Amino acid sequence: MTDPLGAARIAIIGGGIVGIALARALTLRGLGEVTVFEKEHRLAAHQTGHNSGVVHAGLYYKPGSLKAELCALGRVAIREFCAEKKLPYREVGKLVVAIDESELPALAEIERRSIANGVPDLRRIDEVAELREIEPHVAGVAAVHSPQTAVVDYAAITEAMAQDVRAGGGSILLGQEVVAMTVEAGRVRVRTAVSEQVFDRVIACAGLQSDVVAKLVGADPSPKILPFRGEYWSLAPERNDLVNGMIYPVPDPRFPFLGVHFTRGVYDDIHVGPNAVPALAREGYRWLAISPKDTWESLTWPGAPSLAKQHWRMGVDEISASLLKTRWFRKARRFVPELRSRDLVAKTAAGVRAQAWGRDGALLDDFAVDQVGPVTLLRNAPSPAATSSMSIADYVIDHFLTVRAD
Ligand SMILES: Cc1cc2nc3c(=O)[nH]c(=O)nc-3n(C[C@H](O)[C@H](O)[C@H](O)COP(=O)(O)OP(=O)(O)OC[C@H]3O[C@@H](n4cnc5c(N)ncnc54)[C@H](O)[C@@H]3O)c2cc1C
Repeated sequence: MTDPLGAARIAIIGGGIVGIALARALTLRGLGEVTVFEKEHRLAAHQTGHNSGVVHAGLYYKPGSLKAELCALGRVAIREFCAEKKLPYREVGKLVVAIDESELPALAEIERRSIANGVPDLRRIDEVAELREIEPHVAGVAAVHSPQTAVVDYAAITEAMAQDVRAGGGSILLGQEVVAMTVEAGRVRVRTAVSEQVFDRVIACAGLQSDVVAKLVGADPSPKILPFRGEYWSLAPERNDLVNGMIYPVPDPRFPFLGVHFTRGVYDDIHVGPNAVPALAREGYRWLAISPKDTWESLTWPGAPSLAKQHWRMGVDEISASLLKTRWFRKARRFVPELRSRDLVAKTAAGVRAQAWGRDGALLDDFAVDQVGPVTLLRNAPSPAATSSMSIADYVIDHFLTVRAD
């Protein structure tokens, strides 16, 4: 492909893992002079620094979707990057467990998708004894096991990628929120509270603020971001032997993030969660963090009645489990019957997911990218976007940047 970028000046909005992976790829490929704007005073301050740390192997995603394709490529890229930088990468493995016979058809669908997506070394397990060889304390009738599903520290990975950006001559400006953009003669004037610069191309990877940033260049307000908080409980360290790797429920493929699950983190901490409750602020990490503006915008979005009608039961279930520890505990104990309520200690490290939803109330399933003249906008990059960050970067460069903006 020809490279029309030449010595372009490229701005990236957002210092999460996707923005920094893009900055790194552009720098290493010599595609321009890169400047990253991050509104917080540190990198990875939002989703990237508040997630489960799982390197997904691609079990759930619709075959042929961008999620399926970029997750497979991204997993390998993250593994190689961690090896190169000597960052922890632990293949603790994931067991997706059917608790009873009623879940077998859904488990079969996960198995079908996993095979279509080329999940490495995937194995179907129908013997309880075999399940217990992998997770001695688990309950269930069948499972699929993905031994190469891994855990990492995404904030540390982002910092290591940022070092490559700086070493390659790129700039990362912290504490600089982009508040305005104007397209002038095919170039973009980018303004923060303290600076104003002109760039040839801009790529916005603004996570929870994706729709706000899109509006700065007059893009369609849809899809909007619906913030969903995910909360975790920690397992008391003396009970760490209850879980070897990851134990997940059979998910509804439309909402693979739902359902209480157990994950052994890269530093051997075991967390139980996350759930998914509506956040009352885009960056609302607690129930009491309320933004009247964000909440009003979500409630008055044209798709709100349709979403509420379809999913109110699920919403009530998730909210009650968030507010009542006993409900959460009961959900978790179905998978690990030896779990006691007192084994769940301190609710920790909530994260807020940036989930895009359309005017019709439908949640966008796949990654989504928009182009407005010289500005490329990542409109939907939820899980597994951390796993896929390096392949999303290559995808955006190859499909949106190395072609002319006009
Ligand atoms: C609870 C939870 C669990 C998850 N678990 C996993 C998992 O196990 N594996 C996985 O692969 N994915 C997981 N994810 C998803 C993953 O964390 C995200 O998909 C990924 O981090 C997205 O990265 P990002 O760079 O797009 O967004 P972010 O990390 O949110 O970064 C966006 C950045 O843009 C900045 N910004 C916004 N507006 C502006 C502006 N105007 N000017 C300047 N800067 C701006 C923000 O401050 C922010 O730092 C999880 C997410 C959550 C919330």
